[in-house]
Amino acid sequence: MKRFALVGNPNSGKTTLFNTLTGSTAHVGNWPGVTVDKKEGTYKKLEEPISIIDLPGIYSLSPYTPEEVISRNYILDEKPDCVINIVDADNLERNLYLTTQLLEMDVPVVVALNMMDVVRKKGDKLDVELLEKQIGIPVVAISAQAEENIDELMKRAYLSSLVSRKSKSLLAEGPLLHLVNDVQISFKALKVDHPLFHAIKLIENDEIEAKSHPDLIKIVDEFKNTFDDDVFGNDLEAVVADSRYRYITTNFSIAKTKKNQTFVETSSDRIDNVLTNKWLGIPIFLVILFMIFHLTFGENLFYLGGILNLSPSFEGTIFEGVFWNEGIMSPGVILFNLMDVLTSSLGDWIGGLTESLPLWVNSFISDGVLGGIFGVLSFVPEILVLFLFFSILEDSGYMARVAFILDRIFRKFGLSGRAFMPMIMGFGCSVPAMINTRTLGDENERIATIRVIPFFSCGAKLPILTAIAGAIVASSGFGNADLITYSMYLLGITVAIASIILFRNTTMKGDIPPFIMELPNYHRPQFKSLMVHLWDKLKHYIQKAFTIILASTIVIWFLSSFNFSYDFLLEEVDGMVVNLRMDESILASIGSLFAPIFAPLGFGSNLDRYVWVFVVAAVTGLIAKENVIATFGTLAACVAGGLVSTEDGIAEVALMITATGITVPALIAFIAFNMTTIPCFATVATAKGELGNKKFKWTLLFWLVTSYIVSMMIYMIGTWWWTSFIFLVALILVIIGIKIYNSKGKEKCQLVK
Ligand code: GDP
Ligand code: MG
Repeated sequence: MKRFALVGNPNSGKTTLFNTLTGSTAHVGNWPGVTVDKKEGTYKKLEEPISIIDLPGIYSLSPYTPEEVISRNYILDEKPDCVINIVDADNLERNLYLTTQLLEMDVPVVVALNMMDVVRKKGDKLDVELLEKQIGIPVVAISAQAEENIDELMKRAYLSSLVSRKSKSLLAEGPLLHLVNDVQISFKALKVDHPLFHAIKLIENDEIEAKSHPDLIKIVDEFKNTFDDDVFGNDLEAVVADSRYRYITTNFSIAKTKKNQTFVETSSDRIDNVLTNKWLGIPIFLVILFMIFHLTFGENLFYLGGILNLSPSFEGTIFEGVFWNEGIMSPGVILFNLMDVLTSSLGDWIGGLTESLPLWVNSFISDGVLGGIFGVLSFVPEILVLFLFFSILEDSGYMARVAFILDRIFRKFGLSGRAFMPMIMGFGCSVPAMINTRTLGDENERIATIRVIPFFSCGAKLPILTAIAGAIVASSGFGNADLITYSMYLLGITVAIASIILFRNTTMKGDIPPFIMELPNYHRPQFKSLMVHLWDKLKHYIQKAFTIILASTIVIWFLSSFNFSYDFLLEEVDGMVVNLRMDESILASIGSLFAPIFAPLGFGSNLDRYVWVFVVAAVTGLIAKENVIATFGTLAACVAGGLVSTEDGIAEVALMITATGITVPALIAFIAFNMTTIPCFATVATAKGELGNKKFKWTLLFWLVTSYIVSMMIYMIGTWWWTSFIFLVALILVIIGIKIYNSKGKEKCQLVK
């Protein structure tokens, strides 16, 4: 199959084009550096299917960043049949810099002039034919987003791929070009592919090139000596770059006429003056985040409840309290309540159908199968609403600003603003977030970031937060659910920051590479791409619910309903099915062994009853974090009697609270433990792949120790406030320890000198 590679600057629309061409739903973001790995798909509208490869965005082919190395090696080693060079027509000159380098390779290149809709809207004019004539390869004006002219682009790319193309250099005539030609001849004699490209890179003193051809460096130097001194200066790279830009401005810029030649402050600039303001930037970000949580989880929208004096909506119907209760429900909660109405009715209906079946079949269906699945699915609405907001922030270009604002603070902790992207991705799922750390330049910075990514609470941990926060509010009348959820997210972030400071001051020192990022223009989020993001989330979540989570809840149901002699423990009392002997179950026997370990965290053997319940729930979370709540769903139905009555997770946790007598600090400690401990299976496997064996083992230990200490602190301080002094002393000792450790390091260095 022929292969076409998409190459272009970050944010030029490669992934949008890739999705249009292949019908796939890869992540598109208004954010440089979203695509780190290369992705493949198939385009089927030509006479033969074409494999399309989406490469990471790059500004040049010099190997400064991992993205540049990936893209460069792909073109050189894998030899695609055609390179489709995506150029952001709105930033023509800067984008063509990469084009001039692609022209130096012996590979067919077609320029896709993207974002033509933007150019048109601005009233600028672009003479495509003139540009094509000047560059000397096909140039096709497209809009990847509006899907304009895509087939034409592919047709011309296909035609180009049928013939080979000779490389050409756009460097100006003169000594430099002479030098290039001389070196190129030596490369040709060696029968290297892409002789012109390698020759120019070698002259630029490119790192990779110099390493792979040490013998030729001498030849370059000899050639240089044949010219007058000082013709080239000593920074040949700058000379070459300068020559490229000069070519672009004299030969390519004429194709574009701008409507407004004078600089005007755009609305983007004006918005940025406020949003990226030195003092206001971070408070605004925190307020925006809080608003998002409020709109997703709030049960008293804008705190109007106290003023309006409402009585529950639709009293006496199944919709009672769905839209407002004492306060107005947020959109997220309304959807959650509607889902609850739906699953409850469905559960009742199925319960009616299975009534006449034997008790254990009945319990298997309602507790083993439905309890878990419904418990997990009930959180889909809130997850979707939360991610809709996150996608809007990202797509509009705001998240890129946040990275920029945070860079200043990140630096104090020992990270660059670049690390913000993987962290924010961690709120979705840790797996892609860990892969994205490949964009980080410094290896120690990368390892530290991978270790803290699980602390950025992912979508699968959300049900734990929501269900427990909801249950705390329901059973103790304490606080607002949205406030608890928001502060737990902040807790995760705080733990992450503390860990980074620890790492970067002890075992993982290193320079923080400079953070250069071009801020994308603000634009209105595209409905289609928002829906693509949400669909991606939903698909993943539902797949998990019906496979891994279903399997785990069935196992939990089995282990909790039978004892070691395989007696079925459930019985019918007063028309209710209850499991009064659950403490005899297999699950209880195993779980109780570990319960003492968790007593200092408040949810182990110090509970009144069922000391093993929370331990077991946390362990099932190692398979998938949704399991934690699904497990409660299965257990609660047995403990409290009555086959599945509600399936919203909150009621189940509330039942477990009454049954076990767990306290609020212990519940918060339990959330914190699940948020910071070893993440799910898939994440652990990814971390292993990214870190290598030795680092990985330390990382597992780090997660365990951190979660234990953090939850213990929460439980102890929450229960006995004076223990905070003990922790304070411990903290001071740690800081002193680090200072001593660091000063020792310095002495060693001096001795070596
Ligand atoms: P990549 O970094 O090169 O993969 O770029 P993306 O495909 O992620 O696109 C970057 C941003 O530009 C996204 O917000 C897209 O929605 C937007 N975009 C892509 N193509 C077009 C286009 O033709 N017109 C407009 N107006 N926006 C586009
Ligand atoms: Mg991309």
